[in-house]
Amino acid sequence: MEELRRKSLLYRSGLGFWCANHVQGCAHGCRYPCYAYLRARRYGRARDEADWRRPRLVANAVELLERELARRHGRIDVVHLCLTTDPFMVDCPEVSSLSLDLIACLNAHGVRASVLTKGVLPASLADQRFDRRNTLGISLVSLDEGFRSRFEPGAAPYGDRIAALARLHAAGCRTLVHIEPYPTPRIVRQEIAPLLSAVAFVDELHFGGWNYSTLPGDTTDCSAFYREQAQIVRAFCRTHGIRATVGA
Ligand code: SF4
Repeated sequence: MEELRRKSLLYRSGLGFWCANHVQGCAHGCRYPCYAYLRARRYGRARDEADWRRPRLVANAVELLERELARRHGRIDVVHLCLTTDPFMVDCPEVSSLSLDLIACLNAHGVRASVLTKGVLPASLADQRFDRRNTLGISLVSLDEGFRSRFEPGAAPYGDRIAALARLHAAGCRTLVHIEPYPTPRIVRQEIAPLLSAVAFVDELHFGGWNYSTLPGDTTDCSAFYREQAQIVRAFCRTHGIRATVGA
């Protein structure tokens, strides 16, 4: 895998939390479209989709993280991996290995990690060297593999994502499912109930709509649809004791 070097790693996102993106590009090539790809193309970090899908590893990521955590000692409690790439990219063992090293580094400094992937979370995240207060999450907006091939062509099959998350939950880890961007019926016909049932074991759930393109359809119809789905999500989470954040 190609490598690059950066001058800094940690940054506070516009959403208000600390993040680390130790890879440039993402092999998953999502087509909602991927906001990170659009920005990378705009600012000259990716020529086109093929270029974006060729990830480059930040070779000095651990060194930067050590230095930046020492400098901000006690001022960061959680770091999110990742906002502009995927920490457990499919068929990219170098990315997964570096992600595990960064999470171990965060935890060794008393900082929790919040992880989100469309890949397969490694079972080793339940090892003793990792903090049990880490939040381990998957993105999941459908169970329809046809939808996945169309919109998340390089990401892991849904069943594999869920099985890995369930394994970590059974091992005592804190788990999360991120259901965003949830597709409208104009994009794919599906019921949300089976999706929620497949991840009923999680500790936390985030639900949000599809706001990146004109694909979802008429705004008024979308608002009504998302209000209805949000009600179903809230009721499900109440019944199952899941902490919910609903952004739709
Ligand atoms: S997994 Fe995330 S970063 Fe990667 S292409 Fe998909 S949306 Fe973009």
